[in-house]
Amino acid sequence: MVDVVGQYRRIKKEIDEAIHRVLDSGQFILGREVAEFEKAAAAYLGVKHAIGCASGTDALQVAMMALGIGPGDDVVTTPFTFVATTETIALLGARPVYADIDPRTFTIDPARLEKALTPRTKAIIPVHLYGQSADMDPIMEIAAKYGIPVIEDTAQAMGAEYKGRKVGGIGLMGAISFFPSKNLGAFGDAGMVVTNDDAVAEKVRMIIVHGSKVRYYHDILGVNSRLDTIQAAVLSVKLKYLDGWCRERRRAAARYTELFEGSGITVPFEAPYGRHVYHQYTIRVSRRQAIVDALVRKKIPHAIYYPIPLHLQAAFRRPEAGEGSFPEAEQACREVLSLPMHTELTDDQQSAIVSAVRDAAESRSAVPPKS
Ligand SMILES: *Cc1c(COP(=O)(O)O)cnc(C)c1O
Repeated sequence: MVDVVGQYRRIKKEIDEAIHRVLDSGQFILGREVAEFEKAAAAYLGVKHAIGCASGTDALQVAMMALGIGPGDDVVTTPFTFVATTETIALLGARPVYADIDPRTFTIDPARLEKALTPRTKAIIPVHLYGQSADMDPIMEIAAKYGIPVIEDTAQAMGAEYKGRKVGGIGLMGAISFFPSKNLGAFGDAGMVVTNDDAVAEKVRMIIVHGSKVRYYHDILGVNSRLDTIQAAVLSVKLKYLDGWCRERRRAAARYTELFEGSGITVPFEAPYGRHVYHQYTIRVSRRQAIVDALVRKKIPHAIYYPIPLHLQAAFRRPEAGEGSFPEAEQACREVLSLPMHTELTDDQQSAIVSAVRDAAESRSAVPPKS
């Protein structure tokens, strides 16, 4: 699905030098490399504060901790996302509440969002899924109307734009992931919280180092979630290439879409409000199993993000939100299929992938083999 090694080889010299600089300095916790990457990331995103942390999951948790979210609170998000979004809400003792998605963009539907709010709602977490922004203007309007802070889950959308602005800095906070396969990927776990709010930034900075400003004086409840110094050095090198990589992803996506023309397969919808950076190229198909079987036979990588919506996951099921509660998310789970998407994809690979999908989708008599 991704080719992280191929990308590394292209910039190996620079990366190796950056890593060795950290090794030679002996500074493995925070220090110059982290501060430099935070500054560069803030400038890139057009935000005042960028605070590195240990993962995208931690970024979500720390952002909610900065708002004091806990037992008795509701947090509204989408049921069609990676588990981290819901998991962190639940870990803090709050209740995940869902609003169904817009089936074209797979992101939270603003019209349904307002109906999902409760008097206990303490945050709204839209997810910029697959590299495409949620429709932020109506979301921010609803949030302002009820005085509820917005945390943008920007794990899959570093570099994506909404009406000319980089996502992540539109809500009160943005939570970013640098998991290796993300658009800006580290060589291990890494994440970041971004905000334009000074007080929130100060709180997040304390929370990630055990709730302290002065070492061994702990003012608030915190965690250990620093951005690793070696990862920061790697990310500083890679950040310079991100815009070029986003362009390559967009080019590959346009080529896929061209190759699918006339096939009847639903290709990704690019909302006119933004710039999709294709963390995933995800199609919708009705006979998915037959296509998956054909891809397995041909050893073509593919993935289903995600097979089960969060409200139906065993860990998060609640009697009031059973099957049928969020029909758009449930249908998306039955139909989505993500194809290989990365910066090293060749035209030949794309042609072979699309041929395999088209052949399988078009052959009505295909009998899937027993696995
Ligand atoms: C990857 C991802 C996360 C979690 O990021 P990690 O760095 O893996 O902890 C959170 N939300 C979404 C939507 C993601 O895709």
